[in-house]
Amino acid sequence: MKKITIAIDGFSSTGKSTLAKELAKHLGYVYVDTGAMYRAVTLFAMQNGYIDADFFDKETLIHSLPYIKLHFEFNPDLGFGEMYLNTINVEKEIRTIEVSSFVSKIAEVSEVRAKLVEQQKAMGQDKGIVMDGRDIGTVVFPDAELKVFMTASPETRAQRRYDELQGKGENVSYEAVLQNVQERDYIDTHRDDSPLRKADDAVEIDNSHLTREEQFAAVLELAEEVTKSL
Ligand code: C5P
Repeated sequence: MKKITIAIDGFSSTGKSTLAKELAKHLGYVYVDTGAMYRAVTLFAMQNGYIDADFFDKETLIHSLPYIKLHFEFNPDLGFGEMYLNTINVEKEIRTIEVSSFVSKIAEVSEVRAKLVEQQKAMGQDKGIVMDGRDIGTVVFPDAELKVFMTASPETRAQRRYDELQGKGENVSYEAVLQNVQERDYIDTHRDDSPLRKADDAVEIDNSHLTREEQFAAVLELAEEVTKSL
């Protein structure tokens, strides 16, 4: 069976990673969460004092990029690769609301994007990959055989992210999560470099009223159709 590249883009908290992980597991493909990479760079910037609520030293971050080494390491218990920043597992630290509140600013920096996109392209060289993010179908893999663009209302997405954070014991209000989702939507769709947009040949899925199983079945069917047609 030929292997394909599956690009999954969309707004924050649309369940991209859940879908991508399930697809990768079912198909025996590699799963790559590119948001984790932007989050790890954000954590690095926070740890080094390059970004704060009212301050961002973009130039120093750009000069520090060669010192940021990112890699994923497969965790068989979880069934996916965890994010490592300079040999340290940062999977938990990168999921906080604080990192979420800075990440879109970091992701606006072209030099950051160029570094991460290069690494992402290399990871997909042999196909058999499901990658999720904001620019996968438009920039990273414009020739992907299957592109999916996921949307849902901001309220639905904020509720999902809120439930997830509560589950992890993070003390945060629903309003704060909704505000973060809306701010990220705005920055992600309005930035100059690789703004979030649906690729012309992407299949759009609004999952506000779809169950996880329905969504998985629909996209798996698409993937199987595409693979058969090759
Ligand atoms: O997917 P996740 O919500 O973890 O992504 C965090 C942030 O990283 C997004 O809001 C966006 O600003 C940025 N991002 C990006 N391009 C990607 C993946 C994520 O700009 N391919």
